[in-house]
Amino acid sequence: MSDNTKFIFITGGVVSSLGKGLASASLASILQGRGFKVRMRKLDPYLNVDPGTMSPYQHGEVYVTDDGAETDLDLGHYERFSGVACHKTDSITTGKIYQRVIDKERRGDYLGATIQVVPHVTNEIKNFILSDITDEDFVLCEIGGTVGDIEGQPYLEAIRQVAYDLGRDRAMFIHVTLLPYIPTAGELKTKPTQHSVKKLQEYGIQPDMLLCRSQMPIPQNEKRKIALFCNIREENVITALDVNSIYQVPISYSHEGMDKQVCKHFGIPCESEPDLSKWEHIINTLRLPEGEVRIAVVGKYTQLLEAYKSINEALTHGGIANKYKVKIKWINSEILEQEDPSLHLNDVSAILVPGGFGQRGTEGKIQAIRYAREHKIPFLGICLGMQLAVIETMRNVAGIKNAGTTEFDAKCEPVISLMTEWETEQGKEVRTQDSDLGGTMRLGAYPCVLKSGSVVANAYGCEHIQERHRHRYELNIKYESQLRMAGMSITGKSPDGLLPEIVEIPDHPWFVAVQFHPELKSKPFDPSPLFVSFVRAAINKSRLL
Ligand code: GLN
Repeated sequence: MSDNTKFIFITGGVVSSLGKGLASASLASILQGRGFKVRMRKLDPYLNVDPGTMSPYQHGEVYVTDDGAETDLDLGHYERFSGVACHKTDSITTGKIYQRVIDKERRGDYLGATIQVVPHVTNEIKNFILSDITDEDFVLCEIGGTVGDIEGQPYLEAIRQVAYDLGRDRAMFIHVTLLPYIPTAGELKTKPTQHSVKKLQEYGIQPDMLLCRSQMPIPQNEKRKIALFCNIREENVITALDVNSIYQVPISYSHEGMDKQVCKHFGIPCESEPDLSKWEHIINTLRLPEGEVRIAVVGKYTQLLEAYKSINEALTHGGIANKYKVKIKWINSEILEQEDPSLHLNDVSAILVPGGFGQRGTEGKIQAIRYAREHKIPFLGICLGMQLAVIETMRNVAGIKNAGTTEFDAKCEPVISLMTEWETEQGKEVRTQDSDLGGTMRLGAYPCVLKSGSVVANAYGCEHIQERHRHRYELNIKYESQLRMAGMSITGKSPDGLLPEIVEIPDHPWFVAVQFHPELKSKPFDPSPLFVSFVRAAINKSRLL
């Protein structure tokens, strides 16, 4: 780590879901616009070892990094906004911290000491914050949860100590709060923010900046009041207004002076403005699209759209690249098991079936896939969506009625089955039905070789790609010729040719299904080629409707 690396700690107060992750990602992106090198990290106080086994209903999508970490969806924001790939060393939970501490204790590393939250747990948190940093100018560390949570206390103590150790000229505390508007009083209320800052001060942390979420501009006298009672400079009370698109946030925060005040805190000259032209381009395209196209996403976590965060964003990115607005029609797949799919799908220009786990709703997804295949509607299947697309063709075209996946039915014709071993950089991985569920999937980026002339090869413009995986089951290569006879070809495989990664139906305008998750690497200014091509196919279809 260079002696100049500066640390910014982002905490949240008043309520959860204030968009701390977005705020952190936006600040990182603005600092990049000032020419700085940034790194982003998330510290989650819950006890799970990672979010891999958490329900998408409770926690939203599990975001996977290139090196195979299953992480919080905020890391997706970090990558989308900064373009910097996150690593295993950028995400930690209390579960993992305790696992490390207990492993050390068992090994005898603590030489008989009594193991305590302070210093052993806090030291492990500090090690995480300070590890694996090279020449970054800024490391932004977001602390999950809300100030006052019991689980969060060791993290607040650890970041207080890091700031103490490094000196305040290398550390900054930003606290994100909410100013609720009370219509009967006609006022924005500052008291919850004051309490939240008091709570932080109890832990020895004096925030340097407040980022106040508000539905309206904060009057100067209110800012003055917050500044006085929270012991903060008035210019460092930053308004975080609600905006129409998350991609407006960097420009909006910069406009409010956030990055200037951060630079001032660290004594960095900041006369010039940051270069945010790439964000201006995105905002302008979003504001004035050439048209609108409607795409159905048929999944089972449709009550909580956070569960499909990256898919949602990747579709937006595909739209931006085509200068179109993508309107997503979320369809709960279980409905398609009871009702005629055409009632729900006849007004969309493309259909996407995303990944998922468990059997519920899968027959409805198969109905959607059949509808897309038969009605020549552009179709993109992702992970489970790919596996079901193969099953659909095997059942309804090849006529193998019991074709299925051993994930749901041990007695089916096992077109999709458990992958028992595969190669990684660390050597061979082996799995059985009884393996642990957490952290044991095929995870992270793997190479894939594309068949020349295929839709995917044209979309990517090359024949060697790397995309991220998160699955346990695979299409068995031995069904390749049967699939080919049924009109489906395998157009992407692992370099050894053993693992099918992509299938297409050549006699269809655009039918592609992939075992990996292309949405995870998509960024507004570097969209997934597959999503760009898919949205283009949807636009072409909409012109025919
Ligand atoms: N459940 C499937 C598997 O484990 C698909 C996983 C996914 O869609 N991410 O292989």
